Amino acid sequence: MTLGRPTSGGRDDLPGPPATTDFPDHPTLVEIARRQTQIEVWEALSVGGYRFAKPGTIISFLLIVVSVFLIVTPVPPNWPWNVPLSIATIFAAVVMVVCGLLWLDKPQVGSPPEPLEIVPFSRAENLHLMNDQAPEQYCAFCSCPGCGDEATHLVRRPADNEPEWATVTRHCRVCDREWAQA
Ligand SMILES: [Zn+2]
Repeated sequence: MTLGRPTSGGRDDLPGPPATTDFPDHPTLVEIARRQTQIEVWEALSVGGYRFAKPGTIISFLLIVVSVFLIVTPVPPNWPWNVPLSIATIFAAVVMVVCGLLWLDKPQVGSPPEPLEIVPFSRAENLHLMNDQAPEQYCAFCSCPGCGDEATHLVRRPADNEPEWATVTRHCRVCDREWAQA
């Protein structure tokens, strides 16, 4: 199993833990993607319930209001409509109760999973990561190595202490991660 990480020149000298370990922990792309999947599953379960329940409750309630008004007021046609109307109203009431109970019946899927909190990258951390990163080819639309945000990120000229091979520095609006591309 390979991770497909681009390594230049097949170097095996894996760098040890960085000397500056006071950078905050960021959620990995895998963790972010997994949480996003969990949120999508939760949304599919929680909204896939009884679609007819809410409109059924509201429509039958309105029908009952109109029917009761017609039954109890001497608005023509009052008789002989009030007996079948009363029966229809009772049916509408049953429908309203059933739909109302189904509307209130939330599927038992628990509370929604929270999106993982994105910890913004600091300038020092960005510089540290940038100077360690393998050369990366420029592309207009790509995903952020910090949070996976796919966009045409903000692009600027590299600063002096950024990798020499870089022609642009990308900036992610979501997590403030900056990385170099050439
Ligand atoms: Zn990002």
